[in-house]
Amino acid sequence: MSDTEAATATSSAETVPETSDSAEKMDEINEPETKRRKLNRNNDNDEKKNRLEERLGSILCCAVCLDLPRAAVYQCNNGHLMCVSCFTHLLADARLRDESATCPNCRVEISKTAATRNLAVENAVSELPSECQYCGKEFPRNSMERHEDQMCDERTSGCKYSRIGCPWRGPKHESKQHEQDCPHANRSGAEVMEALQIIDQQVADERKLYENIFELLGYEKITFNDLQLKPYRTEEFVHRLYYESSRFSAFNNQWVVKARINNSQKDPTQSSERDITYQKDPTQSSERDITYQLILRTRTSCPLNINFIILRGPFGDMKIHPRIYRFDFTEQDNESPYMPLSLPDTAECNRLLAAKTINFRLIMFLA
Ligand SMILES: [Zn+2]
Ligand SMILES: [Zn+2]
Ligand SMILES: [Zn+2]
Ligand SMILES: [Zn+2]
Repeated sequence: MSDTEAATATSSAETVPETSDSAEKMDEINEPETKRRKLNRNNDNDEKKNRLEERLGSILCCAVCLDLPRAAVYQCNNGHLMCVSCFTHLLADARLRDESATCPNCRVEISKTAATRNLAVENAVSELPSECQYCGKEFPRNSMERHEDQMCDERTSGCKYSRIGCPWRGPKHESKQHEQDCPHANRSGAEVMEALQIIDQQVADERKLYENIFELLGYEKITFNDLQLKPYRTEEFVHRLYYESSRFSAFNNQWVVKARINNSQKDPTQSSERDITYQKDPTQSSERDITYQLILRTRTSCPLNINFIILRGPFGDMKIHPRIYRFDFTEQDNESPYMPLSLPDTAECNRLLAAKTINFRLIMFLA
């Protein structure tokens, strides 16, 4: 570009905004004085509100995930805030790594006892406005769940004929109209059989579980033990975490329960490749589960056909879905395979890891 060309370019660039500027100024002058004052005041208010809420938001957010906490808020001894799921995640990570957990901000040690709830922050956050994910309107956080689940016209809903196969999903305010026109309402019995069979299957599976439990309850030999799993480290070069109960007796034999995390994968604190999509939320960065096995510690001359089931028990608080396992213990084969402790999600697994011990009830049935 030559000097003259550059000069023209600059001057023309200067002239264009000048005209639009003056046009805006003309508009402003033409507006009635009162409206202009009102507009300005609204702008001022909006700005002030935004600034205050944004500032409060950045002060009250979790130091780990930077989100505003939805439930309990914990703080380290120096006052750094963490939401409950990040807090239990930090404690669970520390348990897996055999380190003590530290505050991500100041590195002071944190634990169930060396950290406190901060009720003032919890209450303040619940008063801050937040945007409904469906309609975009603002409500205080403490009423958001009710709004999004029950009140919002834009919330996603299904069709009342979903049980017979209608896949429609859409905003709530359209569901009435859809249901009136829904083609599934007039389908024949033969056409809805497939959908009904799927439902039947789900119900049958659930019923089978309960029928099995009732059948087991009719066994001659039943015993239960309220047990406690405690964390230990393996002797390997990389000490892996595992859990073990103390010995207990059942059917004149000695037993223990062992448990491990993610089937002792190399480093359960690292996320696997399939979890990369979750990286934004560090509380979901790695999926975790617990598996357990039942071990017969004494010699037995005759095989023991054992059905067993783990329940929450009177001293535990795990959210477990009951599942029956069966294993035939013999003198050679005295350890059951590792079976999943069917927990609802990784968060529940982290909660159990963050606690000192895992309490549960083991019921055993001898055939
Ligand atoms: Zn957090
Ligand atoms: Zn701290
Ligand atoms: Zn809404
Ligand atoms: Zn429908």
